[in-house]
Amino acid sequence: MGLPLFNKCYAFDRAKIAIREGIYPYFPVIEENYGPEVEIGGKRVVMTGSNNYLGLGAHPKVKEAAVEAIRRFGTTCSGSRYLNGTLTLHVELDEKMAEFVGKEAALCMTTGFLTNQGTIAPLVGRSEFVYCDRENHASIFEGCRLAYGTLRKFRHNDAEHLDELLGQDPPEAGKLIVVDGVFSMSGDVAPLPEVVRIAKKHRAAVMVDDAHGIGVMGETGRGTAEHFGLSGEVDLIMGTFSKALASIGGFIAGESDVIGYVKHNSRALMFSASMSPPACAAVLAALEIVKQEPERLQRLRDNADKMREGFKAMGYRIRENPTPIVPVFIGEEKKTFWFCKALLEAGVYATPIISPAVPPDQTLIRTSYMATHTDEQLDRVLEVFETLGKRTGLI
Ligand code: PMP
Repeated sequence: MGLPLFNKCYAFDRAKIAIREGIYPYFPVIEENYGPEVEIGGKRVVMTGSNNYLGLGAHPKVKEAAVEAIRRFGTTCSGSRYLNGTLTLHVELDEKMAEFVGKEAALCMTTGFLTNQGTIAPLVGRSEFVYCDRENHASIFEGCRLAYGTLRKFRHNDAEHLDELLGQDPPEAGKLIVVDGVFSMSGDVAPLPEVVRIAKKHRAAVMVDDAHGIGVMGETGRGTAEHFGLSGEVDLIMGTFSKALASIGGFIAGESDVIGYVKHNSRALMFSASMSPPACAAVLAALEIVKQEPERLQRLRDNADKMREGFKAMGYRIRENPTPIVPVFIGEEKKTFWFCKALLEAGVYATPIISPAVPPDQTLIRTSYMATHTDEQLDRVLEVFETLGKRTGLI
């Protein structure tokens, strides 16, 4: 007899059915990682499902910095930043990130997920309000759930709806607007100029989750605020190290008093062990390369443009955005799973996006690109998509 608690687990068969049907696409095991190519099931495939946008995860200087940090500090800090877990590396990283995004102060946490959770929860107190785009990342909503204040959701990228919601709450209340700078699934960019204008009107603070914008958006890769020339107007810039910056961890940057408050009130920061030494050192090395090699960013943009043009020329419906994320419209869950499986068999890894991430009839295959993808690899991806698109009647 199973325990009552586990009844839902025994009844949960969505994944089992997909496995039985041979179309289950999740938790693929990567046996080797060459950056733009990986090995899955003993076969080398082009990786179009990674957020290693600048291709720095395998950069020799980044790897060497991580190894050197292990030699000097070991593999772990074995404690929270609050107590025994702050190394010179963490302090340097805080300072460098603040400088990079043009803010007074920054604070690094162990993951991007924890950074959102650990910033929003302490900041939005009782009788205060947090306004979120419906398509914001899950970690933002986790932070909102833990906050004592009230969550209001506005329609995706709909600044008018945001304005309306803000207008319904008490004018003097503390208010925080949170948006993804670049939305992770669609690659959509937040309408920051409107968001900032509306925030000013209602005396609300603006926080941008720039997980997919740091290193990628703006002339020098400083993110979505730089893209719009609004770095000074966005109050809080959050980013992750798990994407363009070749590591794992996250940061929140803003006024020093605000960061100081988060530092002393964030349970996610205070009750979780800090970023490991190699993780910190990898980011520091990656950041230097971002500054020294702007051609990487250009190459990334060229690669994404080439793919957008290629998909469109074949007749695919794609989402067009100035980002390295290029989602291809499929429109139905099973077809999406089948397509991903067929892609893999033909030598391309891409990510299925199904409900609830998107409405059930709007399923996508999310492709994303790296500065280190070669033309030959990208042509191979287009070729495979063309063959499968024709076979399925999508194009
Ligand atoms: N925000 C966004 C928009 C993300 O896409 C992600 C990662 N998928 C996160 C936050 C969480 O970052 P991390 O993976 O570093 O925990």
